[in-house]
Amino acid sequence: MLPLPVFQHHSPSSLAEAVSLMAELGDRARLIAGGTDLLPNMKHGIVEPEHLVSLRAVTELNGVQHDDAHIVIGAMTRLVDIAKHPAVLEHAPALAEATGQVGGPHHRRMGTLGGNLCLDTRCVYINQTYFWREALGFCLKKDGTVCHVVKSGKKCVAAASNDSAPALMVLGAEIDLLSPRGKRTLSANDFYTTDGIYNQSRKLDEIVTHIRIPILADRVSAFEKLRRRGAIDYPLLNCAIRIDYKGPQIDEFDMVVSALAARPKRVKAAARLAIGKKPSDALTKQLAEVAFKNCKPLTNLDNDADWRRDMIRVLVRKALERARPPVASQAT
Ligand SMILES: Cc1cc2nc3c(=O)[nH]c(=O)nc-3n(C[C@H](O)[C@H](O)[C@H](O)COP(=O)(O)OP(=O)(O)OC[C@H]3O[C@@H](n4cnc5c(N)ncnc54)[C@H](O)[C@@H]3O)c2cc1C
Ligand code: SF4
Repeated sequence: MLPLPVFQHHSPSSLAEAVSLMAELGDRARLIAGGTDLLPNMKHGIVEPEHLVSLRAVTELNGVQHDDAHIVIGAMTRLVDIAKHPAVLEHAPALAEATGQVGGPHHRRMGTLGGNLCLDTRCVYINQTYFWREALGFCLKKDGTVCHVVKSGKKCVAAASNDSAPALMVLGAEIDLLSPRGKRTLSANDFYTTDGIYNQSRKLDEIVTHIRIPILADRVSAFEKLRRRGAIDYPLLNCAIRIDYKGPQIDEFDMVVSALAARPKRVKAAARLAIGKKPSDALTKQLAEVAFKNCKPLTNLDNDADWRRDMIRVLVRKALERARPPVASQAT
């Protein structure tokens, strides 16, 4: 078992206290929620904070609220509670499915939505012990100067591996952030960048406080995931789709495929193809083909990239088959 390095633990009991601690400790500190991502990364020397600021006792960040227009989820809400929440199951099934398939039961009981949203990128050449990485000569993401995935690359292309990200992107979620500089809101679409070293637009001292998801009538969504072992593993590929229906016709459409590179990929060509049409087997096949053409997995994860690419068609088809019009829309 790998030991944890030495660090100082802080346990603020309010959001205001957490913000001021982050301001005081600066770059030397990291936030910790469930710890299921951060602590393994610290054991591997991928991240080396001197201080951890725990959000565990900040009760303002807990729970799911909803009215007619929005579902609002506190960043510290556990994945297991989101996956089975009636409002999430009814209005944002893609998120219920995504959170219900993160890791294994222990990860979902400890892991939070805020932590999942802010998950570090993953790569077969970085999620290894320090000694393993040292033997390879390290890499751009930490301690080194080269990328082993794109040999001549100047940029890290480690994979966004958080299952909630594609679901929140297609659902049009908004992320509330709080820092010593005040509040701001980012759309889930603007939350991720293409830099695998740190793939978030969020500054390190910004705390995700809440995630807001709009509720729309005649909206359906679905999430699909490819992983080695259905009971526990990170995604080798995942995909979320969302359709707003007007009667039996597709009025708005969104598709995001992830676990490719640092930023989850929105497949814009799929929306152009789907809007204005009625769902059909032919359309499903065309959309799966568009996703296949636009998404190219890299050798950053430990399964064959060509096989992962072939599986894009399968995942998209499975998601679309579950996203047929709601009964009321079909009747009009
Ligand atoms: C064996 C194993 C399998 C796993 N499988 C999956 C999987 O299939 N899919 C998946 O998505 N993940 C997987 N994970 C990763 C992890 O369990 C989940 O992503 C979990 O949701 C992370 O949440 P956490 O609360 O534990 O985050 P933490 O580890 O506490 O934090 C993760 C990151 O988020 C930051 N952070 C946490 N909360 C906030 C906040 N409110 N504001 C700003 N920053 C914050 C932390 O500083 C840290 O950088 C797996 C982990 C393991 C060990
Ligand atoms: S993509 Fe390249 S730079 Fe990034 S973690 Fe993997 S090997 Fe390192």
